[in-house]
Amino acid sequence: MLIIGSHVSFNGTQILGALQEALSYNANTFMFYTGAPTNTIRKSIDEKYTTEALKLMAENNIDINNVVCHAPYIVNLGNKKDIDKYEFSINFIRNELKRCDEMKITKMVLHPGNAIGISPEEGLTNIAEALNKILDGSTKCKILLETMAGKGSECGRTIDELAFIIDKVKRQEQIGVCLDTCHLFDGGYDISQFDNYLDEFSKKIGLSKIGCIHINDSKNTLGSHKDRHENIGVGNIGFDTLIKIIYSDKLENVPKILETPYIGENDDDKNRIYPPYKFEIEMIRNKKFNPHFKDDIRNYYHQN
Ligand code: FE
Ligand code: FE
Ligand code: ZN
Repeated sequence: MLIIGSHVSFNGTQILGALQEALSYNANTFMFYTGAPTNTIRKSIDEKYTTEALKLMAENNIDINNVVCHAPYIVNLGNKKDIDKYEFSINFIRNELKRCDEMKITKMVLHPGNAIGISPEEGLTNIAEALNKILDGSTKCKILLETMAGKGSECGRTIDELAFIIDKVKRQEQIGVCLDTCHLFDGGYDISQFDNYLDEFSKKIGLSKIGCIHINDSKNTLGSHKDRHENIGVGNIGFDTLIKIIYSDKLENVPKILETPYIGENDDDKNRIYPPYKFEIEMIRNKKFNPHFKDDIRNYYHQN
C-alpha cells in the first residue's frame, strides 16, 4: 500500500491538528516539526491531544509507525568548537526523542550536521560521537539521518558519509536514513537511474535502514548543491522519475513525505498562499501529472 503524506503544522492542537490537516489532504501519514524548525523553543506535549490523535488515527487506518517528526535544522552535531552549542544540541535532540516517545512516534528525521572550519571526516566523527551520547538507552524513537544536498559544509551528502556515521553508532536498532529526492539530485546523484543508487545503498548501508523518503522536485539542476524544493513534476527531476521512486517495490512500506513549496509563495500577496499537498497526493495516487494543478489549487482554496 502506498504510504503518502506531507509536512504539516503542529501549532495549535499539536499532533491532533497535524493529523487533521493530513486527513484534509487524503494522506495516510504526515511529518511535523514540534515547533519552528529554525529555533529550539518547545512546548511540552499535551497528553490529551495525543490520546485523541491516536484514536482518530485508528479510525482512519493510519499507523503511528509511519508518522515522522523532524528535528529543527539549526542544531548542529558536526562541530564541537563551540562546546556549549554542541552539548546543547545533544541535549536538545535527546529531549526531542523523549517528546516523540510521549506521542508514540517511532521515527525522527535529523540533518546530520555541518563541518564548518574542520575536515569532513572530523565532522562525521563528531556526529557519530554525539549520536552515541544521545542514544543512551533512555529513549525508543529512531533517528533517521537525512541525505543532504551538500550545501556549504553539510555532512551526509554521499552514501559513504552516511555509512561512515552509521557504522560507528552502537545502538543500530535506533539509527536509519531518510532519503530526500531533491537533496539526492542536488547532491549529484542521477536518480533517474534510481536502482543504481539503491544498489550502492544496499551494499554500503542496507535497504532496511531506509525509514522515510522526502518526495520533492528540484528548482535546480543535477549536482547544483542548492537545495531548493519544487512542486512535483515542475522541477528538474520530473514527474516520471518521482513516480518511479515512489512506487519502487523495494521501498513499498517506507512512508513518503512531500515537502514541496506552497503555491503563491513567490507572489506579492502573502495572504494568498495555499498548500499543494492534497493535489500533489492526488496526482501521485493517479500516477498522472495534471498540468493545471496550480490553478486547481487556487480555485479550490478560494472556494473553501
Ligand atoms: Fe530535512
Ligand atoms: Fe527533506
Ligand atoms: Zn531540503
